[in-house]
Amino acid sequence: MEKSEIIVVSKNRGEKGNYVKPFLKGLGFTLGNFFTKPITVQYPEEETKRSARWRGLHKLNVDEKGELKCVACGLCAAVCPSQAITVVACEEEGDHRRPEQFVLNELRCVFCGFCQEACPKGAISLTRAYDYVDYSREDFLFDISRLKAMGEKWDC
Ligand code: SF4
Ligand code: SF4
Repeated sequence: MEKSEIIVVSKNRGEKGNYVKPFLKGLGFTLGNFFTKPITVQYPEEETKRSARWRGLHKLNVDEKGELKCVACGLCAAVCPSQAITVVACEEEGDHRRPEQFVLNELRCVFCGFCQEACPKGAISLTRAYDYVDYSREDFLFDISRLKAMGEKWDC
């Protein structure tokens, strides 16, 4: 024959002092939050807070004449651990090099920032843009015009 087991949950469960104190504590916490400023962000109308060190989508920078600073040296592509950058160089008169093709695959990118650090001309930077969405993989291949447009939109 099985022995019946009695489980004692709490000896003093019914006593008044045991639930009044936590109840008042909870009420105080709720009231405290009720009068504090809400932290809800009305995204996307409001920008969410990001660290100053945030690394987002890329941009190509231009000089004061509006020319690309990039000299197509390929250092960014060489240092990129994800092989996300393709640079095709083109030489113009006076030994001036420029990128004929510059494509950055944002889907491959791990946003390490190595390309920005390696660039000797300050031609490529990572912006604070993080909420880019699209429908096809091709839309994440940023070419020169898109990277330049990012530069016009983002100053950091
Ligand atoms: S941030 Fe890093 S992974 Fe992304 S393109 Fe630059 S070097 Fe490559
Ligand atoms: S972005 Fe900078 S590192 Fe990359 S190819 Fe251009 S000049 Fe070289």
